[in-house]
Amino acid sequence: MTIGKLALILVLPFAIVSGCSRPKAPELVSDPAPELDAIEPRSPDILVITVDTLRADRLGCYGFDAARTPNIDRLAREGVRVQHAVAPAPITMPSHTSIFTGLDPPAHGVRDNGTYPVPQEIETLAERLRGAGYQTQAFVSAEVLDSRYGLDQGFDGYDDELWNEAGPTDFKRQERPANKTMDRVLQWLSQRPVPADPLFLWVHLFDPHQPYEPPASAAQGTPTLYDGEIAFVDRQIGRLIKALEDEGALDETIVVFTSDHGESLGEHGEETHAVFIYESTIRIPLIVRYPPKLPAGKVHMQSVRIVDLMPTILGLADQAQTKVQGSDLSKALVSAKPPPALPQYSESLYPELAFGMAALQGLRLDDWTYIRAPRAELYDRATDPGETRNLLDLARDAPGAAVAKRKADDLDQLLSELIERGRRLDIVAQPKPLDEDTVKMLRALGYMEETEAPDALRGMDPKDGVPIYRKVSEAFRLARDGNCPAAVELLSPLLRMLPNLVQARNRIAKCQLQMGNPKAAKQQYLKSLAYDPNQEGVLLQLGRMQMAEKDLEGARQRFLRALDVIPNSADAMVLLGHLDFSAGQPKEAEAWYRKAIEADPARPIPYLFLGDLYFRQAKFADAKSAYEQARKIAPTDFVATLQTGICTLALGELDAAEPLLLEASRIDPTQWQPFYYLACARAAQGEPDAALSQLDKAVELGFSDAERLRRERCFRPLQGDPRFQKLARGLAAQ
Ligand SMILES: [Zn+2]
Repeated sequence: MTIGKLALILVLPFAIVSGCSRPKAPELVSDPAPELDAIEPRSPDILVITVDTLRADRLGCYGFDAARTPNIDRLAREGVRVQHAVAPAPITMPSHTSIFTGLDPPAHGVRDNGTYPVPQEIETLAERLRGAGYQTQAFVSAEVLDSRYGLDQGFDGYDDELWNEAGPTDFKRQERPANKTMDRVLQWLSQRPVPADPLFLWVHLFDPHQPYEPPASAAQGTPTLYDGEIAFVDRQIGRLIKALEDEGALDETIVVFTSDHGESLGEHGEETHAVFIYESTIRIPLIVRYPPKLPAGKVHMQSVRIVDLMPTILGLADQAQTKVQGSDLSKALVSAKPPPALPQYSESLYPELAFGMAALQGLRLDDWTYIRAPRAELYDRATDPGETRNLLDLARDAPGAAVAKRKADDLDQLLSELIERGRRLDIVAQPKPLDEDTVKMLRALGYMEETEAPDALRGMDPKDGVPIYRKVSEAFRLARDGNCPAAVELLSPLLRMLPNLVQARNRIAKCQLQMGNPKAAKQQYLKSLAYDPNQEGVLLQLGRMQMAEKDLEGARQRFLRALDVIPNSADAMVLLGHLDFSAGQPKEAEAWYRKAIEADPARPIPYLFLGDLYFRQAKFADAKSAYEQARKIAPTDFVATLQTGICTLALGELDAAEPLLLEASRIDPTQWQPFYYLACARAAQGEPDAALSQLDKAVELGFSDAERLRRERCFRPLQGDPRFQKLARGLAAQ
C-alpha cells in the first residue's frame, strides 16, 4: 500500500538535516538543498468515493441521530462538509458523468442509464489526471456503470467485474456488495509498487440502492433496512480509511465523499428515485478532506453542484483547469466569506423516456426550488424544506402569489439560459434514430403506426403519474419474486393505456419467456424497440431469438445495430463472433472475440468463446490459455474449469488435468463430464479399476452414450476388459 509513500521519502532528508545525526559542513555543501529544490513536489493522491442512492439527511454528520455512520462522520469532522450539495439528475449514469466531466447532462448528453454512452470527445477527470502523470483506477459496483457506457475513459484499470461474485452459472449480476468491492480495492492497493505515481482512485459502492438487503449485523439498531445498507457501506469505507491511515497516507490524500442522488422513500409519492427532482433525490452528501489545504470540521453553507467537483479536485491538486461548467471551489471551501452560490441545474428525462410524459428540468438558487413542468412548481425551502407547498398553486389574488409568479418567471428565464449554454458546448451524445430496415420491418408488423398514434400520456405532468409508478413498481416486485403471471396481469392493462412504457413491456417479455411463450415475448420486444430503438439489451435479446429460429442474417442485423447504439458492447461482439463461427468462418469469429476482449478485458465470456473456437479446431494449447483467462476472472465457473481440464488432458498432461477436473466436479457436482474425463485420465495412465469407478459415477450422473465410449481413444486400453464391455452393452441397451 503506497499512497503517499513517495511524499514520505522526500520529507526524510530534512529530518536528517535537522536531527541529531546532522552531517558535517563539507558534506552539506556537496549534497543537499539544491537537489531537493530540483525535485518537483509530488502531486497528491486523490480518492473519490461515491455511494449510490445516498440521502444526505440519513448520515450522522448531517444531523440524523439514528445513523450508524461513524466513518463518514469522521471524514466530516476532519474535513469540509457541504451542507447543501446538488445532483444534476436522480439517475446513476447522468449524475456520475457530471461528477467526472464537470458538465451538466444537457452538455455531456448522458440523460439516462444504458442508452447514452459518454461521448469520446469529452475529457474526463481520469483522462485529465492520467495526462498529468497519475495512475488512474476505478472500482464500480453496479452494471449501470459498466465500462461499455464509457465512464472508463482515462482509467488505467476499471474494475466492473460483477459476475464472479455469483454462483458458477450466473455471469451477470446487477450489483457487487460493498465488502466484496472493498476487498478488491484493498488487495489492489496492497500490490502497488513503491514508489508509485500519484494515484487517482474512484470507488463506487451500490448497496443503499433498492432492494434493501443489508447483512443482519449492519441492520442492527438502524431504523430501516435502507439505513442498514448505509451502515454497512460506512463500515467498508472505514476499512479503506484505516488502510490509508495505517500507511500514513490518509493526510496526503484528497478524499472526496459524495453520492450520485438520494432516495425518495415515499416522499412526493415516489418510492425510490428517477422521476422527480425534489430534495429527497437531488440533495446529496458532499465531504472533502485534505488537511494540507482544508480546515477540519468546517461546514460550507453555500450550495455546491456536482459539476463543481472536477474543477475543485483539480484546484486542490494544483493541476491546470479545463473548460467545464463547474467552478473551482478549492478557495471558497477555505474562505470565511465564500462567494454566493451559483444556480444549480437538475433534470429528469426519465418521465419522458420511460413513460412518455413530460420531462422535468429545474433550478435551485438560494432557498428557491423552481421546477419546469406542465404545472410549474416553486418552493421556498427556507420555510418549506420538504418542498410540499407549491407557491404557484396559490390563488391569483392570494398574498405572495404575484411575488411567486415573478420569481418563477425569473428562474425559468435563467434555466433557459443555462440549458442553452450547455447546448452550445456541442458535445452532446445524440440517441441514434431507427435504421430504415428496422422501420420497414416494424411498419410491416403494424407496430410503427401504434407509436405514431397520439398517446394518452403525451405531455402529462409527472406529478399526475404517481398511481402509475406505484403499479409498475408493484409489478416489478412481483416479477422479481418469481410471480410472473401476476406481474403480467397487472402490467397488461397498463400497457394498453400507455403503450410506450418500454420497461414494463420488456418486463412482460421476459416473463413471457420464463412462462414458455417465446412468440408473445418476441412481439413485446419488437414493440418495445419501436418505441425506443436504442435498447442494447432488447436488440441482443431479439438477435438471440432470431438465431434460435435460424434467421442468421436477421440476427446479425440486430447485433450490428446494438453495436451501433453501444459501440463498446462486448456482448454484441461475442454474438457476432458466434454467428461467424456457426457460419464456418473461424477467422472472422476470432477477430470478433478478440475485439470483445479488447473492449472489456474483465469479462470472462469472450475468453470462453475464444477457447471453444480453438477447442473445436483441436488447438488445445491456445484453447487452454483462453479458458485459463476466463478462469482467472471467474474462478468458480464450471465450464471454464472443466474445459481447462479437458485441454490439459488433451495435451497429455495427465497429472495436471486431474486437479482441474476434480475442481470442476466440486463446483457442480451434478455434472457427469468431470468424472468421464477423470476416467479418461485414469485409463490412459493404465489404472483400469480407478477408470471404471469414475465411469460408473459419470453414468450415475446421466452419461449414456455407448457409441462414444467405444470410440473414445483414451478408453482403448479398457476395450478388452469385460467390465468395460458390460458397461457399454448396458448403455447401448438403454
Ligand atoms: Zn445511482
